[in-house]
Amino acid sequence: MDEMRYPFLSLRESNDRLMGDLEKVASEVIRSGSYLRGERTKKLETKLAEYCGAPYCIATSNGLDALRLIFRAYMSMGVLLPGDEVIVPANTYIATVLAVTDNSLIPVFVEPNPVTMNLDTERIEEHINMRTRAILTVHLYGNTCYDENIKRLAKDYDLKLIEDNAQAFGAHSVVESNYGTWNSGGLGDAAALSFYPTKNLGALGDAGAVVTHDKELAACVRAIANYGSDTRYHNIYKGLNCRIDELQAAFLLEKLKYIDEESARRRKIADIYSAEIDNPMIMTPLNLHNDTQVWHQYVVRTEYRDAFVKYLNDNGIGCDIHYAVPPHKQPCYIEYADLDLPITELLSKQVVSIPIANVSEEDAHDIAKIINEFTL
Ligand SMILES: *Cc1c(COP(=O)(O)O)cnc(C)c1O
Repeated sequence: MDEMRYPFLSLRESNDRLMGDLEKVASEVIRSGSYLRGERTKKLETKLAEYCGAPYCIATSNGLDALRLIFRAYMSMGVLLPGDEVIVPANTYIATVLAVTDNSLIPVFVEPNPVTMNLDTERIEEHINMRTRAILTVHLYGNTCYDENIKRLAKDYDLKLIEDNAQAFGAHSVVESNYGTWNSGGLGDAAALSFYPTKNLGALGDAGAVVTHDKELAACVRAIANYGSDTRYHNIYKGLNCRIDELQAAFLLEKLKYIDEESARRRKIADIYSAEIDNPMIMTPLNLHNDTQVWHQYVVRTEYRDAFVKYLNDNGIGCDIHYAVPPHKQPCYIEYADLDLPITELLSKQVVSIPIANVSEEDAHDIAKIINEFTL
């Protein structure tokens, strides 16, 4: 897609501005001789915990492993048992669901609110039963999914609240919020972060993190992520190897300095799109004009997706679909294929992500203008 005038995404361009610093820290790591569990990993964990407003952080190999570790640790602690049910949004990336089923837990799919495209928190309660133990909220497209409903349900039914914060790192509450001040990743009992290169805070390879308020969970996750050992050659769990590279930790420490700037830039582009895209065939996303959104994606909806995608590409605008096939319709989840989730399925047929990662303000005005000229 690099030949596009307005590419959907260019990771090279995203990292270009920091090239000198990234090369410098890479060289420092190479020369240090310390490639795993070193001082950079420790520093990254401290900074991420601080940023999210939770006391504990364990940096991990990737975002899916971070999610898997949270569930696996809760199983090891006896907090969750095989067959327990976890509320998940039906409209999400498949990694959310994989982490649940990987631990012999049952995902209970809940429809999105068509306006936010996030979990419809008013529909959660009807799915709660004796086996429900957790809510896994996903801040899809960088829009935080957290409200009084979720807070109340977690409390009333004694459910663990886990955040899949792969797409909304950097989001925080507005001052006027009813919920006090918070940061995504610090809202519930535990959160998984992903630093996959395309995420708002992206590594130069795979990386992730678990952030939590729960000291016991933190110790358990840390042990399981390192072969299940609490001290060297002493294995208290049948563990895994889910460690982060020191090199990725070093890159992330550099890029973390700019995350608020990056969120602000994305908000600016989203505001231009929201103000200027005006075409009856294109529905723009809810834009709250506040810090609860960090616009991992800017996702429009249209009944005429095939024609619209072709039109964008013909006019030099790259785009992507997040996601064309929802998890319950994937071949690996054939057992859920017959679930009745019409809103999720409708969204999967209508959504189009337009460029935001490498878009200047000038580009955004141009792209809005081109979109406004789309006709059949
Ligand atoms: C990217 C992503 C993940 C997984 O993160 P990886 O680092 O790619 O393993 C999980 N959930 C959501 C919603 C994501 O977007």
